[in-house]
Amino acid sequence: MDSFVTAVVFGLVSIATVLLSYLASRRAKLRLGARLADVAATEAGARRLLDELPEAVMLLDAEGRVLSANASATELCGGEPTSLIHSFFLDLVDAADRDELRAGWRRAMAGEIVEPAPVRLVGDDGVVLVEATFHRARNPDEPDDSDRDDSDRPDTDRADPDRPDTDRAEDDTVELDELRRKRQMVLRFRDVSEREQHSRALQQARRRFQQAFHSAPTGMALVRIDDGRIVDANQSLAEMLGLEIDQLVGHTLREFTHPDDVRAAVPHRARLELGIVDSYRLDQRYLRSDGEFVWARTRVSLTEDDGTMLAITHIEDVTEQKRTAEQLTFAANHDELTGLPNRSSLMSLLSERLEGAPPSSVAVLFVDLDHFKVVNDTLGHGVGDELLSTMAGRLRSVVRDHDVLARFGGDEFIVVLSRVAHEGDPAEVAERIRRALHEPVMIDEHELFVTASIGYSSNVDSGMTPNELLRDADAAMYRAKARGRDCVEAFEAAGHETGVQALRTTGELRRGIERHEIVPYFQPIVDLESGRVLGYEVLARWQHPDRGLLTPAQFLPLAEETGLLVDLGTEMLRNSLAQLASWRAAGHDFANCSLSVNVGNRQLLDPAFCKLVGELLGETGIDADSLWLEITETSLLADVKAATTTLRELRSLGLHLSVDDFGTGYSSLTSLKRFPVEAIKVDRKFVSGLGIENEDTTIVEAVVKLGQALGLAVIAEGIETPLQLSRLRDLGCDKGQGYLFGRPRPAALIESERVEA
Ligand code: C2E
Ligand code: CA
Ligand code: CA
Repeated sequence: MDSFVTAVVFGLVSIATVLLSYLASRRAKLRLGARLADVAATEAGARRLLDELPEAVMLLDAEGRVLSANASATELCGGEPTSLIHSFFLDLVDAADRDELRAGWRRAMAGEIVEPAPVRLVGDDGVVLVEATFHRARNPDEPDDSDRDDSDRPDTDRADPDRPDTDRAEDDTVELDELRRKRQMVLRFRDVSEREQHSRALQQARRRFQQAFHSAPTGMALVRIDDGRIVDANQSLAEMLGLEIDQLVGHTLREFTHPDDVRAAVPHRARLELGIVDSYRLDQRYLRSDGEFVWARTRVSLTEDDGTMLAITHIEDVTEQKRTAEQLTFAANHDELTGLPNRSSLMSLLSERLEGAPPSSVAVLFVDLDHFKVVNDTLGHGVGDELLSTMAGRLRSVVRDHDVLARFGGDEFIVVLSRVAHEGDPAEVAERIRRALHEPVMIDEHELFVTASIGYSSNVDSGMTPNELLRDADAAMYRAKARGRDCVEAFEAAGHETGVQALRTTGELRRGIERHEIVPYFQPIVDLESGRVLGYEVLARWQHPDRGLLTPAQFLPLAEETGLLVDLGTEMLRNSLAQLASWRAAGHDFANCSLSVNVGNRQLLDPAFCKLVGELLGETGIDADSLWLEITETSLLADVKAATTTLRELRSLGLHLSVDDFGTGYSSLTSLKRFPVEAIKVDRKFVSGLGIENEDTTIVEAVVKLGQALGLAVIAEGIETPLQLSRLRDLGCDKGQGYLFGRPRPAALIESERVEA
């Protein structure tokens, strides 16, 4: 563009010059002849054209005097148009710039192409920085001598614009002749003060950036976007990577990035290059020349430099920060003494292992040192600590790398075996552990013989939680202790467990009942058609202070055997009725429902039972109509006569009766007619096979039909899936309960759920 304007200006000026001199010579020849008027008109047109040019143009004679100047030139020089004519243009220029300008003049006179030079014009309005260009204009009448070097000719010597004014000998009248004979010079110039300022500011900014860049305490690199090569890097970055700056320049940052982190940067870079973002931040590792790596927070933003897209990359070393964070995380998840995962991290590790694990593939070993307390108390905590560390080391050497080993508490360790293939596996590992710990330990000249009791359990069904697994392993460990310590025991499901449990827990259970640790949980019974909650079944839970929440399977058999069931049952009945009363007193709508309380065989045989129920109803103020008692089919059949009498008595109170676990007792269906019951509960064992097992489906269908025939309500238990629900609806079963509608929950939860809903 610039060169185009220059060319146009050059052309116009040349034309104008040629035109003017041509006209001048013609005028001289014709001696102001008849066509002078025409010529004058044309001359005026050329003049106007020149004045319209934004660029300042002057025509100078061979000695540097202004012959004519266009409007822009006059304006820039700050004078009147007339005052400029005949003045030496060098006089218009700051004295300091004259020598250079003169040299340029000479070269231009000699026909050389002269580069534009910055010159300060001193006008009436002050100094203006311009860029001046000369070029020689040729008189049209002059012979073509462009090949000759004119610079040595005597008359060009005289073409010295610095001559004093007095040297201007020529007379106005000979001007036309002079023009023909001598060369003329076109001087063009333009105001560049603004541009100059701009470029100075730019340079300054560049310098400042360079300074900031190179002295920055964080690593910095300028990276070309197109090929990713480093254009410049600072000392901090070089030091961070243990290199020299020139070992970085020309390379890509990728070459220094940890191979595992290279991919992470790709989408960020792509977004930057596509203009979706103009910067991004990323933590990644860079490799140092010594083979170590540094963690660095990398911030990349785009910039443009002379048309090249560059990424300014800040690379801040955050290795220390990362290490501290890692240390903190480690400390939060590990036991300080042994360095093993602690209890809280064990819980999360265990639930990770259990997630999606097939049944019996995960085993938990509960390792408890025997008589550790004695060591601690007699030899001191120092020895105790050392003993624990030694034992932790031995445990580690026995378990496989992918198994979890954690310190659970004081002298308790947990091993989690995953991918257990054979049932014998955990027993084998436990036995190896037992033997390893059995070896004597030397601490401060004390030879210690330490043994451990180990219990283990495994995820017999796939839905088991970490707590359940730990609880089972813990129970098994207690059995090992009971067997005399220094041995391994497997967890055995309820039933087999009771004998040993009883030894340990009769006293415990009695105390548990006394301390109200056995509490009612509530599970909704719903109307299958509408989903409306009709009532709650009351299910006992033992909030054991050490062993967590225990389910009936873990303590009911014991309660039944020891006769504690009567006390326990009374507790349940009293607590749940009181709970219902308190909900009603609080005005909760959901409390306008019934409660179904389980009654054990022993309670039923207790002659005072009916009286007790009546008293509890009176005590709590609950109407008998709101109470259902669930009696298992088996206890009904144990002593049909006695049962019938008690049931009649109970019915006379106004409460309702249902037969629990129906279908498991092989009672003849017709014997049901003898009992004053109003509902039957279909055992969940049949419900679970509904729609899958033909036999189960048939049984449920038969029970529902029987119930309908006898005018009894049918309640299906253990409904877990929508399929089971829809089958039950098809069969015409009216009520049901199961995890699909809600698990058994403590009173507080029922309240918060129902009140919110
Ligand atoms: P149950 O009377 O047949 O109670 C239903 C059992 O099924 C409860 O087990 C309940 O938690 C469970 N259950 C409910 N819905 C589902 C489901 O969808 N899927 C599965 N898998 N299970 C479901 P829980 O609470 O362990 O009680 C076991 C048994 O202990 C009860 O069987 C009942 O016979 C007895 N029991 C509970 N509390 C008491 C009590 O206070 N007194 C007496 N005498 N017996 C009680
Ligand atoms: Ca029940
Ligand atoms: Ca049942």
